[in-house]
Amino acid sequence: MKMKRISSFSTRECAHVFSLLRNAGIQFYARAELMGVTPAGGIHRHHIFVPEKNWQCAIDLLKEGFGINRISAAPFTGACPACGAAVHSRTECPDCGISFNPSPGLLPDSHPFVSFLDEYGLR
Ligand SMILES: [Zn+2]
Repeated sequence: MKMKRISSFSTRECAHVFSLLRNAGIQFYARAELMGVTPAGGIHRHHIFVPEKNWQCAIDLLKEGFGINRISAAPFTGACPACGAAVHSRTECPDCGISFNPSPGLLPDSHPFVSFLDEYGLR
């Protein structure tokens, strides 16, 4: 099977990446690249490889999972997840004021995954 690379995540971020891909049933493997060595150990970036046919899907999943470019959410209807108040088609809770818009861009522009998206025009 032809695998295609997605670049790249820190060791800490990999747990999140792996669980997103696993939950979506996408096969993958990771390859570590040593970026530097500190007294505490090596610093690695992890390149993720997924089947080529799942590549776009995996990227969309990771963008979603890391909150990239979620600028605004659709209006929310239901019980407020924070206070339980009934909310009807609002972007924030009328009772407690919590915003239902996820904060955009949890990763900084300098993050390798964000650079990778820019490189492929996928952001
Ligand atoms: Zn509320």
